[in-house]
Amino acid sequence: MKLKLHPGLEIKYSTIEGKGCFSKTPVPRGRKIAEYTGERISNAEANRRAGRRRLRICAINERWSLDGSKGGNGTHYINHSCEPNSYMKILYGHILFIALRDIQPGEEITIDYESTLHSNDKRCACRAPSCRGTINRAEG
Ligand SMILES: [Zn+2]
Repeated sequence: MKLKLHPGLEIKYSTIEGKGCFSKTPVPRGRKIAEYTGERISNAEANRRAGRRRLRICAINERWSLDGSKGGNGTHYINHSCEPNSYMKILYGHILFIALRDIQPGEEITIDYESTLHSNDKRCACRAPSCRGTINRAEG
């Protein structure tokens, strides 16, 4: 399936990991960047797919997830950072990325993944001064 990028987004190599999602336009704080798109799958299927090398799955609720590796619009390339410039908001079954602060053109869009299907030992490479060392936030 050919990648249909959301307007204003660009996929480039990232200093964090692999390819990342970059904004081509300024995005003011609090503004929606894009919606996460992908194949709608059950969470059981999401867990089955979690063995893949690169994970592009995003949970909507306790039942359903979206797999951005099929039908994604570029937002599935958004990398994790412990000091992100965006966050993910789930609204009526839609996954939205919202700017946490003003984003300049050319900036990589990042969110704090907090919890993922990755193992809790998966190391973080975001290089933020406050990096907690792992992608998943420790529980408790
Ligand atoms: Zn980090």
